[in-house]
Amino acid sequence: MRPSTPPLPKAGIPSLPALRHALVQRLTTEQAPLLRSLLDGLGSPLHLMLPQVFEANARAFQQTLREAGVDGQLLFAKKANKARCLVERCPGLGLGVDAASVPELVAALAAGVPGAHIGISGPAKHPALLALSLHHDCLVAMDSPEELLDYAALAQSLQRRARVLLRWRPPSQPRSRFGMDDTELAQALALCVEHRAQLQLQGFSFHLSGYDAVERARCAQRLVERCTEARGLGLPCDTLDIGGGFAVRYVEEAAWQDFIARQSPQDYHAGKTFEGFYPYASASPGPQMLERILSHAEGGRTLARRLREEGLRLLLEPGRALLDQAGFTLFRVQGVKDRPAEGYGLVTVEGMSFSLSEQWFNSEFLPDPLLLGGSASGPYPAAVAGASCLDSDMLSWRKLPLPSRPKPGDALVYLNTAGYQMDSNESPFHELPLPRKVSLEVDANSGLRWRLDEVPPVTPPLPLSL
Ligand SMILES: *Cc1c(COP(=O)(O)O)cnc(C)c1O
Repeated sequence: MRPSTPPLPKAGIPSLPALRHALVQRLTTEQAPLLRSLLDGLGSPLHLMLPQVFEANARAFQQTLREAGVDGQLLFAKKANKARCLVERCPGLGLGVDAASVPELVAALAAGVPGAHIGISGPAKHPALLALSLHHDCLVAMDSPEELLDYAALAQSLQRRARVLLRWRPPSQPRSRFGMDDTELAQALALCVEHRAQLQLQGFSFHLSGYDAVERARCAQRLVERCTEARGLGLPCDTLDIGGGFAVRYVEEAAWQDFIARQSPQDYHAGKTFEGFYPYASASPGPQMLERILSHAEGGRTLARRLREEGLRLLLEPGRALLDQAGFTLFRVQGVKDRPAEGYGLVTVEGMSFSLSEQWFNSEFLPDPLLLGGSASGPYPAAVAGASCLDSDMLSWRKLPLPSRPKPGDALVYLNTAGYQMDSNESPFHELPLPRKVSLEVDANSGLRWRLDEVPPVTPPLPLSL
């Protein structure tokens, strides 16, 4: 379902209304009292997770693969959100997990994801992570010939055979510290031949920064050639992993163009400037971007056709795109300070900007938050700060077009925060506890059910049929 957005205000300070999924719309309007009572009961900030939206996003990707006739599998890039309710859904959806640490791997296994559906990435992996991967048949992306050689030795000592991908560093990524260039890749391939008793080369991978579909398709075509070459050497290579980086649309295109054209440093507290922003209005988000990658043709043959003809399996590792609209974050307003001489206010919330990670990457999470509550004062421009003693702890440097002056106890809702915003930077700074997550579901009678999302589980997992 296409998310809806409120109409644009006509004048005044720049605004950027966030798209809202129908369920998010319902929760933030008719269910606002429920949200406020959860926030009061469980503490601020509070992350609301919507695993049913995650599920729908995964199915949309799978549908795109089916329509293109491509044998493919999704691995959820777990680092994008730690919530248990997400990884728990993966086995039922046929989703694997992309993990880069022992706790991420253990969480995936504990949720019932088969080891063979778990991909391990990251540079120079911890020996404990490699040993667990060997015991559970995980697919490990090797980042250098040295790492590959060490892994072969570990496999020999544990009497296991290692399933590996070779991670390529495309020429367009000269500054990346990940992956192997063409020379290193050739060395790694030779090692796979030499140590074939310990190493089972399954294929190749890459992970690009940026959101260019054509560049991904080109890289994938190069790796199809690499697979053919490896098969010529007698290696069982049948897998191509194009990584993640599928874009998300947070706001309408027109709203984004208008915002970018209008905003200037004076719209931000302290005249703050930024080097750049996430492209909040992607023209081909998620599955549409996958469709563009698969239908990109070279020499008259689309990538989808080449994969079919060569009998290759495609792996994708979306993080952010699987989390589109799958959660949002509530912050309770703690205090409001007017700065009449400067024409705006400072809202301080209970919580810190560590719960909105974009703020710690030299950038700003731009979609407008919603205000639940407010006085009868009329429009009120305000920046939003965290309750720490850091001047840099700002949730919104931008002077937001709030509909009215907030009151202590009101709630600000930052929308669409499940992808990376919630928990990648959270810390117990000031000895505060880490914020909680609640998983919310619509049940068969259209009622709502919630539970705390905690590890270890506070409620038993779904019943097993024995
Ligand atoms: C972070 C990461 C991803 C996920 O990227 P998104 O932009 O969230 O889709 C996938 N693969 C690897 C190897 C990563 O490091």
